[in-house]
Amino acid sequence: MTLRMYNTLTRKKEEFVPLEPGKVKMYVCGPTVYNYIHIGNGRPVIFFDVVRRFLETQNYEVTYITNFTDVDDKMIRKAEEMAVTVPELAETFIAAFLEDIQTLGVHEATMNPRVTDNIQEIIEFIAALVEKGYAYEARGDVYYRTTKFAEYGKLSHQNLEELQYGIRIEVDDRKENPQDFVLWKAAKPGEIYWDSPWGQGRPGWHIECSAMVRKYLGETIDIHGGGQDLTFPHHECEIAQTEAVTGHPMANYWLHNAFLNIDNEKMSKSLGNGILIRDLVKQIKPEVFRFFMLSAHYRNPLNFSDESLKQAANALERIQNANDNLKHRLATASVTGEIEAAHTERVAAIAAQFVEKMNDDFNTPDAITAVFDLVAEANLYLQQERVNAAALQMFLDQLQVFDQTLGILSKQADELLDEEIEQLIVDRTEARKSKNWARADEIRDLLTEKGIFLEDTPQGIRWRRK
Ligand code: AMP
Ligand code: ZN
Repeated sequence: MTLRMYNTLTRKKEEFVPLEPGKVKMYVCGPTVYNYIHIGNGRPVIFFDVVRRFLETQNYEVTYITNFTDVDDKMIRKAEEMAVTVPELAETFIAAFLEDIQTLGVHEATMNPRVTDNIQEIIEFIAALVEKGYAYEARGDVYYRTTKFAEYGKLSHQNLEELQYGIRIEVDDRKENPQDFVLWKAAKPGEIYWDSPWGQGRPGWHIECSAMVRKYLGETIDIHGGGQDLTFPHHECEIAQTEAVTGHPMANYWLHNAFLNIDNEKMSKSLGNGILIRDLVKQIKPEVFRFFMLSAHYRNPLNFSDESLKQAANALERIQNANDNLKHRLATASVTGEIEAAHTERVAAIAAQFVEKMNDDFNTPDAITAVFDLVAEANLYLQQERVNAAALQMFLDQLQVFDQTLGILSKQADELLDEEIEQLIVDRTEARKSKNWARADEIRDLLTEKGIFLEDTPQGIRWRRK
């Protein structure tokens, strides 16, 4: 069984061959941190987390890097609106982003580099482009000379003429060509800036990823990902920058997720139909949202609606119930010994089916079908009067293996251990100290749900089980 993935660059599903056996270097473009993330942003976050988790279950050692764009025009404008500095704005929304994706069960990235920590590398990158004739200075700005890079357009499959048609013609006499893009922007009075060979300014958007990918992962990486809107111009520009300097392919596989719509409409500011992740998870369990996201193939559009969420919740409940029932039954199961070969074989076949589907361009909906096959098998087994503890454990273990990739089983389903409760109380006290009331309430709710009651006493907080 080989892993195949659809490569936007070649428009084909290709067999995955890592640069180095057993290792994967992966980079996913991260958010501009000027706002809370919405449910659409959740799609790349969850999908690429699943790609990474799956690769790990297949014994790859994955280096997963995703950046923060912590300075750009939007950041500057928003900081002005909020009357804070750009770094203050960034701190607020980086913390919020990390909190949100943790709620969604997303594993921590190997590293989250920020633009403002990489200005020197960015300047060096731009200087190298200027040196090679791929970039030019114009009154304090620096632009990329797209006509010099013969392959410009190869990722989005457009030629230069098509690209020129697509460009909004701006009255900008600094550019040699309308499709040239900015690498360095001269600072306007009062704006945040860094010194550079071209005067005071800040990086353009695209250059940060070229600089950070090279610095943290190397000249060529295995997988570069993002939402489909990033294909052009962002990723096209990254390729032009990196490959002009290094002479090597920037990434061997380019993966792009399709968009999430709401009630069959594009999510947009003007429609006012955006939903923030942090608001959504007050209404539904984060696992349900994850399950919903994975219920469609990542290259197909996905429609968010009350109905589709309800379906996801029901389907996930069936998996969760099977998991809970297996555990309860295990607690009292007496029969031990050999598992019948028929069961072992069936579970092995389902496990193989799951991997096969994930290997086929990360086909999560079909992989989820395999999970349901396991659930059906387990439910059938649970109907027997006498059950074998080893068989129950086998079903549970297999569900866990699936969940290492999908991350959809509730982590709160099990009874809390004493030390987990103690830790939650410490966390809650910390949250209250730092005035993070939402987190404090969340912990209290979780404890209540688990039948744990808190009492404030002069000696501190005491707890008891119902
Ligand atoms: P943005 O906040 O627009 O910079 O987007 C951050 C990431 O979320 C990018 O990878 C986008 O492609 C992705 N993204 C934004 N909106 C959606 C959406 N509605 N559906 C799927 N991905 C999205
Ligand atoms: Zn990028």
